[in-house]
Amino acid sequence: MKNKSLYFAIAAIAALALFPTLVPNPYYIHLIETILIYTILLFGLDIVVGYTGQVSLGHAGLFGVGAYTAGVLFFKLGLPFFVTVPAAIAVTAVFGAVLALPALRVTGPYLAMVTLAFGTIIKILINEMTFLTEGPIGLKVPKPTFFGHKITEVEYFYIVLVLMALALIVVHRILKSHLGRAFEALRDSPVACDCMGVSVYRYKVYAFVISAALAGLAGALSTYSVEYISPDTYNFELTILFLLAVIMGGRKTRSGALIGAAIVVMLPSLLSDIELFQKIATALAIGVLAMAAYNLSKKVKTLREVAIPVVATMGMAAFSFWLDNITDWRLTIFGFMILFVVYYLQDGVVGFARELFARATAQSAAKTALVQATAGVVAVRPWSPVTLVNNGSANLLEVNQALMQFGGLKALNLVDLNVSHGSVHGLIGPNGSGKSTMMNVLTGIYQPTAGTVSFNGQVITGQTPSTIALSGIARTFQNVQLFGEMTATDNVLVGLHHTYKSNILDVIFNTPRYKREDAAARAECASLLAFVGISELAEHEARNLPYGKQRLLEIARALGLRPQLLLLDEPAAGLPPADLPDLMAMVKKIRDHGITVILIEHHMDVVMGVSDTVSVLDFGQKIAEGKPAEVQSHPAVIEAYLGSGSTAH
Ligand code: ADP
Ligand code: MG
Repeated sequence: MKNKSLYFAIAAIAALALFPTLVPNPYYIHLIETILIYTILLFGLDIVVGYTGQVSLGHAGLFGVGAYTAGVLFFKLGLPFFVTVPAAIAVTAVFGAVLALPALRVTGPYLAMVTLAFGTIIKILINEMTFLTEGPIGLKVPKPTFFGHKITEVEYFYIVLVLMALALIVVHRILKSHLGRAFEALRDSPVACDCMGVSVYRYKVYAFVISAALAGLAGALSTYSVEYISPDTYNFELTILFLLAVIMGGRKTRSGALIGAAIVVMLPSLLSDIELFQKIATALAIGVLAMAAYNLSKKVKTLREVAIPVVATMGMAAFSFWLDNITDWRLTIFGFMILFVVYYLQDGVVGFARELFARATAQSAAKTALVQATAGVVAVRPWSPVTLVNNGSANLLEVNQALMQFGGLKALNLVDLNVSHGSVHGLIGPNGSGKSTMMNVLTGIYQPTAGTVSFNGQVITGQTPSTIALSGIARTFQNVQLFGEMTATDNVLVGLHHTYKSNILDVIFNTPRYKREDAAARAECASLLAFVGISELAEHEARNLPYGKQRLLEIARALGLRPQLLLLDEPAAGLPPADLPDLMAMVKKIRDHGITVILIEHHMDVVMGVSDTVSVLDFGQKIAEGKPAEVQSHPAVIEAYLGSGSTAH
């Protein structure tokens, strides 16, 4: 698969490089150049939209900032191309950081509104700052001159192509590195992301800054491409068009950006040439009909499922022949296309093609995966963390009079909890007694209303979840919080994020340091997957794993943090009873490596079997504590369990 994308990229770039020779028509060369420029912007927009899952309606504004930075620097100061373009990238990146600020506070529709306002403000500023931008009159900027030679249209096409290829490599490397995994992780589960020591806050800003830098490059290139810029270009329609391009092309793919750019750039010409429109509508209708017939014959879809797309595309084809003047209908057709994409093409053209392709090759892929998995197992080293030793202090964790109040409810009511080094500490209690709340207080998700938590002798109350995680507390979640769209391997690699010291330049230039760290992290990841017994699922998306395996994957990911303290919130929930002994053995092995464990569990035989000490919570208060046997026979505990009607097995 990896090689296939590489060959595809090389073939596509080679075809584009030959284009001016094959089609020496300035109109088409300019059209392709525009597509390439949009592609660069869409690489960046996809980082924000596809990877981090944030909505941005501010990217036309960023495109404008890039265009005007280059334009103004040339127009006012006569600076050359190789100064204006990097300057445009830098200035736009700063604006990207500004655009990121609202994304740190709000999401969804609110973020869409704020970013839209940002775009509008940029447009107004460009319009009003006439001393720099000449206002609505716009700026004329000729093609750049290198050493006295004025670049021709075709030469400029090649400059854009080379920069697009470079952007492709840079974006590809960033996204497949630990940085890219952080972006995806914060989309799929911000809470888990923070608890793996990967600051959601910081990586959202990074994503917007990188995205903006690409928009800045695209903007600067467009200035020299069109040779005239005016504020009107960077409007609401353009921003919608960009978003549509990412979705139509297919998010999280580079080819999707290119296809999306091609669609939106050619759409206006398509919608003004009625004969071309008729041909494409007919071809589309035949294609959809053939697909439907195939799906019906294979019985993968029902008549009802295929009816609407078939009728819609045939209707559009018929409509195209009935029309005699397309221009009046442009917006209507455009609207229908958006509806079609939103309903039937949610993963875009690339996603659709992949699905088709995947169905055809599903069997061979399964075989390769099996071969790879078995090949991998041989090479995997057993997981062996640095065995931690007690540094002398009595308790690793000390909770002092923790109070957690939600309105009138005291979910934790002045609880003390001391967890000694290298022990397994069971935490039990009926549903709603405050066990998960305790985990959330320990990991910084909740700020306790009063009381303190000390870890290794340091007070950690008030620190952010990612800082606490990095100081050595890892956890799993009662309601599994995996990064669903990422593979099992990538999930664990997010846990290992802290092992990467490489910065973005190491990633972009693929330096020895980055390669070494990446190889080490992948080896440790394979060991961890083997330790929890899910090596054969390494390349499966987390959301497709059986529930029990998801819990095991969460443990592997948490161990990736190389924690001193591991918090397990009901790890046995969802596991088949036959797997419980394995889980208990695993908890003991983790403890034997010197990692202290707090275990919340409803299966009494599991808690009692592995815990050194057990604390019992009821209505937010600690009602008993001691060795498993003592606790089990404690009258208050029996009363709490029987009284609340919970089932204790
Ligand atoms: P347990 O894990 O022991 O089953 P929890 O710690 O999840 O219990 O919940 C303890 C109590 O605190 C419950 O009554 C629950 O409804 C309440 N609670 C937990 N989190 C919140 C929250 N974020 N807001 C309001 N109430 C909460
Ligand atoms: Mg709970």
